Amino acid sequence: MSRQIYINGAFVPQEEAKISVFDHGLLYGDGVFEGLRSYGGKIFRLEQHIRRLYESARAICLEIPLSQNQMCQAVSESVKKNGLSDGYVRALVTRGAGTLGLDPNRCSNPQVIIIADTIALYPQELYDNGLEIITTSISRNHPSALSPRIKSLNYLNNILAKIEGLKAGCIEALMLNHKGEVAECTGDNIFLVRDEVLTTPPLDAGILAGITREAVIELARAAGTEVQEISLTKHDVYVADECFLTGTAAEVIPVVKVDDRPIGTGKPGPVTKDLTDRFHKLARS
Ligand code: PMP
Repeated sequence: MSRQIYINGAFVPQEEAKISVFDHGLLYGDGVFEGLRSYGGKIFRLEQHIRRLYESARAICLEIPLSQNQMCQAVSESVKKNGLSDGYVRALVTRGAGTLGLDPNRCSNPQVIIIADTIALYPQELYDNGLEIITTSISRNHPSALSPRIKSLNYLNNILAKIEGLKAGCIEALMLNHKGEVAECTGDNIFLVRDEVLTTPPLDAGILAGITREAVIELARAAGTEVQEISLTKHDVYVADECFLTGTAAEVIPVVKVDDRPIGTGKPGPVTKDLTDRFHKLARS
């Protein structure tokens, strides 16, 4: 099905949605993006996603030629124009076309692109039975090299980790940070449950400040579960009762095996299931 793609203020059929080969988004991964979901036509935490997009842009000195309100409207309109009730939106801003040199000051025209489509990241079977993952040898970007707080178009760090995971037969892979602590997976944040306490790495572990992560922390606390944002090691993962991942595309998905070790009973646990239900209710509320 042909989608209507938003490019710089206009909607065009996807076959006509084109940008320059001189765009630094393509040449250097120089740009920022967001992934959002719409549930029953309502975009989950739209303002929060757009705020993160603008923060990412600010961090790379990229000025977005729209206000945050206008961007919210453009995202909502993209979902409507494509007749999507339950959908996934990719919003991105590139540095624009420049020269073949790195200099971002030679790029005068940032490109704002919004793609509204559907997504099915994992088969239902994996939500029911859980994922098997490995720890990859690829460390998450050192925050002083390229902060994982910036959701930039440069995802090579994560892609290299994903390649290693896929070669080992795993669809997701756990990335440690430069200190060897648990950071996040290639496209998701990670949570553990141990003795009924929910733990997840803190933002300064060098992770993306996931919006699903934040929602799940809020839901758990509202349900009376203790939540700790603390640094975690691989050992903590291996001895956890439960493990799950969160992300806009993935939502909440159980992990039942890490580095060939069953987590807890080796089946999705009760806290994971409860938070999954609460998340679905919240997303559709
Ligand atoms: N970490 C990384 C590296 C990601 O790409 C994503 C997906 N955007 C997440 C975590 C989860 O973030 P969110 O819940 O905001 O989608």
